[in-house]
Amino acid sequence: MIQNYDLVVIGSGTAAQVASSRVRAAGWSVAVIDHLPFGGTCALRGCDSTKVLISGVDAVDMARRMRGRGITGEAAISWPDLIAFKRTFTDPVPANHERRYAERGIDVFHGTARFTAPSTIEVPSVAFTLPPIASVGLGEAQALATGLRFRVNRQKVSNW
Ligand SMILES: Cc1cc2nc3c(=O)[nH]c(=O)nc-3n(C[C@H](O)[C@H](O)[C@H](O)COP(=O)(O)OP(=O)(O)OC[C@H]3O[C@@H](n4cnc5c(N)ncnc54)[C@H](O)[C@@H]3O)c2cc1C
Repeated sequence: MIQNYDLVVIGSGTAAQVASSRVRAAGWSVAVIDHLPFGGTCALRGCDSTKVLISGVDAVDMARRMRGRGITGEAAISWPDLIAFKRTFTDPVPANHERRYAERGIDVFHGTARFTAPSTIEVPSVAFTLPPIASVGLGEAQALATGLRFRVNRQKVSNW
């Protein structure tokens, strides 16, 4: 099966959300692919997760520093409870992201994407072709590693 898109975004992180939404709003057909649950590093494993976990550690640290200075009792971390709290932020992310893509008319696919030709991307059982102008947004590190660039036609995409 081969499907044609103006833009195929590999990865569903922060970069993908911005790029895919703006390009879709300009009328392009867009697909987003990820081999992990949708949302990317920041929302699922990076920024938000670390803020919650560090907040717990900071709270205990502060309570210990203030003991005998108006604070009594032993503060301690319950890791199961802290992880459960963290999951209240991260667990809803994949479904919320997929719903938002659907609302914007962006198709989502699960699987590992790979180029089989300059304008052809495959995930297992699905193949995509891209017009020559379209390029690809990856996670930052991969974009640098592969030399691929995300590029759009500025005349076609307003308010870029
Ligand atoms: C612990 C930690 C804490 C962080 N804290 C902050 C912070 O406080 N503030 C901040 O600004 N930044 C923070 N960052 C950095 C931030 O997470 C990244 O800058 C951001 O996530 C990059 O977004 P991205 O869309 O480029 O890539 P990512 O969000 O990494 O998304 C890339 C996606 O591509 C998918 N993918 C890769 N290859 C393929 C493939 N071949 N096929 C299908 N899917 C593929 C991956 O599964 C992934 O979901 C933190 C990072 C970490 C690790």
